[in-house]
Amino acid sequence: MRTCPTIASLGRALSAGAGRKVGFVPTMGFLHEGHLSLVRRCRSENDVTVVSIYVNPSQFGPAEDLGRYPRDLRRDSALLRREGVDVLFTPGDGEMYPGPYRTWVDVRGLDDKLCGRSRPGHFRGVATIVLKLFNLVRPQRAYFGQKDAQQAIILRQMARDLHLGVQLRVLPIVRAADGLALSSRNVCLSTADRRAALALPRSLQRAAAMIRAGATASSDVRAAMVGEIAREPLLEVDYIAIVRLRDLEETDVIAAGDTLIAVALRAGKTRLIDNLLLGELSC
Ligand code: AMP
Repeated sequence: MRTCPTIASLGRALSAGAGRKVGFVPTMGFLHEGHLSLVRRCRSENDVTVVSIYVNPSQFGPAEDLGRYPRDLRRDSALLRREGVDVLFTPGDGEMYPGPYRTWVDVRGLDDKLCGRSRPGHFRGVATIVLKLFNLVRPQRAYFGQKDAQQAIILRQMARDLHLGVQLRVLPIVRAADGLALSSRNVCLSTADRRAALALPRSLQRAAAMIRAGATASSDVRAAMVGEIAREPLLEVDYIAIVRLRDLEETDVIAAGDTLIAVALRAGKTRLIDNLLLGELSC
C-alpha cells in the first residue's frame, strides 16, 4: 500500500496504475467494519483500490465536533494494508483548501432537508470535498454507505448533474451485534447513552415489521417510531422523517421502491443517524 499525504504523491501513485479500473472509498477515518465492507467490495470490483482519510473541516458547523472527531491514522493504515488497499490518500487541510478558497458545490433542494436543516452548509462541504477527491482520484466507481443515505442521494444527483461519469455504489448499513449502526462517533457515547441509542435501530425494526405486515400510512409508522424513541429520556430527537427517495419530500404513503425512513437524534453530545431504505441508491 502506498500512503500519499500530498496531491503530488497521489498523482505519482495513480500514474503507476494507468489504464486500470480505479475504485475509490472516501472516508474520514477511525475505520470500522462499515468502512471495511466498502473497501472489500471495491477491491472485488476494481483493479486498483484507493481509500482517502480526510476529516473535512468544511462539512462541520462552527459548534460541531470537528475538534473531537476521533482519529487514529496508524490503526487505520494497518487495517487498510491488511485489506490489500493499493493507495491511501491522507491529505492535510493545506493540500485540500489552499487559500484563498472560493469554489463550492450546492445540490439545491436536497441539501437543505433532513440533516441539512440542522446542519446548514454540511452537504455543501460534503459535495465539494467529494468532487475535489473525484477530480484527484478519477475513479470509475466510488463506494458509499447507505447509513448516510441523504449524502448518497446528493452525491448521485451531483454525479448526474455534472456528468462525472463515476458509478456510485451504495452498500448496506453494517451494525453492531446489538443493532446499533457502526459509526466512528460511537466511541464518544457513554455506556448509558449507548444503551439508550438502541431505541434508534429498534424504531426502524418496528417500522420494517409494520411495513412487512402491510402498513402504508406514514403517520402510523411514524407514530410507532416516535413512541419507541420517546421511551428513552436520554435521547433528543432531531427528526424522524418518511420521505420519497427521489426528492426527499415528505410522503403520506410509504411506497416500496421510493421511500426512505430516516432518523437523526442526539445521545448526550453525540449525533446519530440511521435509516430504513425501501429502494435502490446505487447508480
Ligand atoms: P465516514 O468516515 O463517516 O465519512 O464514512 C465513510 C463512508 O463509510 C461513508 O460512505 C459512510 O456512509 C460509510 N459508512 C459509515 N458507517 C457505515 C456503516 N455502519 N455501514 C456501512 N457503511 C458505513
